[in-house]
Amino acid sequence: MIIETKSPEETFRVGMRLGQKAAAGQVFTLTGDLGVGKTVFTQGLARGLGIVEPVSSPTFTIVQVYDEGRLPFYHFDVYRIGDVEEMDEVGFDDYIMGDGVSLIEWADLIEEILPEKRTEVLIEKDLEQGFDYRKITIHELDG
Ligand code: ADP
Ligand code: MG
Repeated sequence: MIIETKSPEETFRVGMRLGQKAAAGQVFTLTGDLGVGKTVFTQGLARGLGIVEPVSSPTFTIVQVYDEGRLPFYHFDVYRIGDVEEMDEVGFDDYIMGDGVSLIEWADLIEEILPEKRTEVLIEKDLEQGFDYRKITIHELDG
């Protein structure tokens, strides 16, 4: 599925719709360049789960946990990861195999440890379409 957006608000709403439908145990992987809108999308997804506290990228921790929504939400940002073994240290497998909803920004950096069953989200710019244009490609992998 491909969705095109023309503002951060629209990308937020795409995330929100997915958050409203998200199932326990669902894993979302986000890929796309710096500043493309992964965190904006994540904020929408969190809102769709019923989380109202502000969600920002976990800068000093790899994972941030939110418990106030319809399901627990595990927000990973692995941009600064040095080695995939750091993911073991934070208990990555327990999160992604748990009953919450997991979302991983910069998932391509830990490709080898991603679960086979996941919802891949790729966000891309196309400057010919304008500065605020984003193409969001959502792909369900069945594992
Ligand atoms: P990332 O997490 O991918 O590094 P952010 O979500 O932090 O990126 O930042 C995206 C930036 O792009 C924000 O400043 C946002 O306002 C801007 N932006 C402009 N147009 C869009 C759009 N269509 N969708 C998402 N963000 C957009
Ligand atoms: Mg981000």
